[in-house]
Amino acid sequence: MALDEYFSDTYAEARAKFQDAAAEAGLAVASHDHPMTGPGGEALALDVVTLCPDASSPCRAERVFVVMSGTHGVEGFAGSAAQIAWLKRGGHERVPDGISVIVMHAVNPYGFAWIRRVTEDNIDLNRNFADFGRSLPSKPGYDELAEAICPRAWNDNAVAEAEVRLTAYADRHGRRALNRAIMGGQFTHPEGVFYGGTKPTWSRQTIFKILEIYCSAAKHVAVLDIHTGLGEFGTGVCYCVGDEGTPAVTRAHDLWGDDVTVMAAAPGSSVHDGYNLTGLSRALAPAAVYGNTLEFGTYPVGDMLKAVRADNWLHLHGDPASAQGRAIKQELKRVFYPAESEEWKSRVLSRSLDVWQRGLEGLAATGAG
Ligand SMILES: [Zn+2]
Repeated sequence: MALDEYFSDTYAEARAKFQDAAAEAGLAVASHDHPMTGPGGEALALDVVTLCPDASSPCRAERVFVVMSGTHGVEGFAGSAAQIAWLKRGGHERVPDGISVIVMHAVNPYGFAWIRRVTEDNIDLNRNFADFGRSLPSKPGYDELAEAICPRAWNDNAVAEAEVRLTAYADRHGRRALNRAIMGGQFTHPEGVFYGGTKPTWSRQTIFKILEIYCSAAKHVAVLDIHTGLGEFGTGVCYCVGDEGTPAVTRAHDLWGDDVTVMAAAPGSSVHDGYNLTGLSRALAPAAVYGNTLEFGTYPVGDMLKAVRADNWLHLHGDPASAQGRAIKQELKRVFYPAESEEWKSRVLSRSLDVWQRGLEGLAATGAG
């Protein structure tokens, strides 16, 4: 099947395909080695391909286009395939003049390799870009439900008991509020889910290190971050995080167009919540950042959350090598990467490459003249 050229079954396979695609395109890969190894003992790294218009080092481009895959580990199968396809189909030969492109493959290589959404320290990388020098937001909803979200046992009884408590919360506050309480990000339960950490994790530090080199002269930085797991099966929705009228939202619309959906901050939350594109905007100022989180839907959100909670239990209390452990892993992979569906894969590719191309054109036109 042609799609197998781009999609992979494991992190190691994805990494090899990315490196091969770069080599075929005549581009060098800079590997930022991760301190740990994968389940097969394989090396882990954040691999980067850069195209600088004048090949200078450090890059002096005023316009930089960044594409990231694997922020949420296991979600990396989609973004990796898009990056490989962009290289193999000659995307690097069609970059508008004056733009530097940075392709970051597997920004959370540990989670990608181990089939986890989180990093090696159980951190949700897309909640880890908080300003840790300031006080972090409290999350009473998560606090109230912490034991039901992550019960100590994972069997039919324990899951059903937890479900009763979660449903009661949804009955009182609504299903959206429940999902937000679970997924909104929290900074007080290191063994819980959607945990933002207390300091920058390896992936955040490494991303910053790379951007410091390539964005030293940047005035306009577009960032495309590819995710999976939320939304309608096979549909790719562009998101920006922020309130209407704020620079994050205005810029996203200016560069990527009207089909960027605004994910407004939930009541009681703030930029401290640690979204990566928010953190990057802060770090790269005064450069203008045009963030776009491209999210591909898979299965119902309840299936996804249950799989994430089960995986959290497995790594804290269970045995990944047991039959139950293997089943939990398989389900986690399925809800973020429906590899059995050729249609899903084909839609991921066409939508990603289309958004990527539109972003390049938008960046070329932004601030021109
Ligand atoms: Zn994600």
